[in-house]
Amino acid sequence: MALKGAEIIKRLPKTNCKECGYPTCFAFAMKLATGGAKLEDCPYLPPEVRAELEAAMAPPIKLVTIGTGDNALVIGEEEVMFRHEKSFFHETGIAILISDKESESDIEERIKGIKELHLERIGQKLKINLLALFFESGEKAKFEALVKKAHETTNFALILISEDTDVLFSGASLCADRKPLVYPITKENVSSAIPKLKELGTPAGVKGESIEEIVSLTSNLKDTGVEEIVLDPGSKNIREAVRDQTLIRRAALKKGFRPLGYPTISFPCFMYHDRFKEALAAATLTTKYAGIVVVSQVDKHFLSPLLVHRFNIYSDPRRPMTVEEKVYEISNPNEYSPILITTNYALDFFIVSGAIEEANIPAYLCIKDTGGIGVMAAWTSGKFNGEAIADFFKKYGVGDKVKHRKLIIPGVAKKLKGELEEELPDWEIIFGPLEASDIPRFLSEEWKQ
Ligand code: SF4
Repeated sequence: MALKGAEIIKRLPKTNCKECGYPTCFAFAMKLATGGAKLEDCPYLPPEVRAELEAAMAPPIKLVTIGTGDNALVIGEEEVMFRHEKSFFHETGIAILISDKESESDIEERIKGIKELHLERIGQKLKINLLALFFESGEKAKFEALVKKAHETTNFALILISEDTDVLFSGASLCADRKPLVYPITKENVSSAIPKLKELGTPAGVKGESIEEIVSLTSNLKDTGVEEIVLDPGSKNIREAVRDQTLIRRAALKKGFRPLGYPTISFPCFMYHDRFKEALAAATLTTKYAGIVVVSQVDKHFLSPLLVHRFNIYSDPRRPMTVEEKVYEISNPNEYSPILITTNYALDFFIVSGAIEEANIPAYLCIKDTGGIGVMAAWTSGKFNGEAIADFFKKYGVGDKVKHRKLIIPGVAKKLKGELEEELPDWEIIFGPLEASDIPRFLSEEWKQ
C-alpha cells in the first residue's frame, strides 16, 4: 500500500454521502489506506481518479502465478526487505532443471526422483514446485517430447527455457493450459514474443544483461498489456546475484519503482558446476530475494536442506511454530510405556519425539498447548504449571493409558515437580534429562531400570 490516507482523501469527492458504508470520505480514505475497504465501494470516483488510485495502491511487487490448480506457484507481493520486519509471504519456488539432451531413461529417473521427494516438517509438507525444461539438444522434436512428458506425467508447474523463440512458443502451446513461465524474453525477441504471450496467457521470464535493460523490457511489456512478469537480471555468480536481487527489491519497495516491481528468477544451476557452490547459491538466493531458484540436483541430500531452509525463511516470525495438543503415541506404546510431557512449541516436540524414536522405546508424549512457548516461559505464564498439566491429564485420560503412575517432566522444569505432586498425588514425578539429546540414554538406562 503506497498511499497514505491523507493522500487518498485529496482525490475523493468529499461529499460525505455515506454510500460506501462509512460516515465520511475521510473515514473511507483511512480504511482504504489500511486495505480494509475497496475503491469500488465509492460509486462517485471519476474513472481517471480510480485508475490513478488503483495504480498508486497496487502492491509494490506484483503477484505472479505460474501453473494452475493446487500445484500453481504464486510469487511476489512481498512487503519487506528483512523477514523480521514483518514476514516474507510467498515462498521461493524451487525448480529442477531437466535438459532435453538427457536420455529418455535419465529424464524418467529424474522425474521419478522429484516426484518421490517428500519431506514433512512441523506438520507441513515441503516439496519441489517446478520443472524447468531446457532446450539444449538443438532438436525441436526432442524439446517438444520433453514438454509433453512433463505435462502428461506430472502436475508440476513448468518453466520452458529456450533461446529459440519458435521452439519456446511451440513448447508453450503444448502446455498452455498449465500456464508455464516462458523464458527468456529478451530485447532481441520481445517484439515477436508479445503477441504469443498475450495469445497463450502465459507469464514472461524477462532476461536482461543489466538492470537497465530489464527496466526497458518490462516497460515495453506492460505498455502492451503483458503484466505477469518474472525478472532475471542475468547475474553470473552469487555476488552479482545478491547485488542484483537486492537492488531490484529495494527499488520496488523503497522507491516504488514500478518497472522493477516483479518477482525474480535466479539460476544457481548455470552459475556453478560444483554442487556445493550451487547449493550455497540456491540457499542464499532463497533468502535474498529470488522468487524462483532453478537447480540441477535431484538427490535428497542436496534438496532436503534447501527445502528446510526455505521453510524456515518463509515461516512467519510473528507467530510461534506449534503442534497440536494431544497425547502422541510413538512406536506403538502399551500400558507399561513411559509417559513424557512437554509444550507444543514445535521445536520442543520435534526434538523430544525424535529423541524418543532414537531410543527405540515406545512411549506416550503428552503435548500441552502453551501457545507455542517453551517450558520455562510457559511455566512462568501459568500455561505449563501443575494445575494446567493436571487438567490436561483429565482431558486426555492419560492415567487410563498405562498401569504405572510415573510421569517424566522436562529436566529444566525444577519448580514444576512440587506443583505436580500436589495436583497429581498418585503420580511419581521424575525429572527427565536437562538436554533432549540425553533422552535416548535416559530411557534406555534409567527408565528401563
Ligand atoms: Fe465519500 Fe464516496 Fe464514501 Fe460518498 S461513497 S462518503 S463520496 S467516499
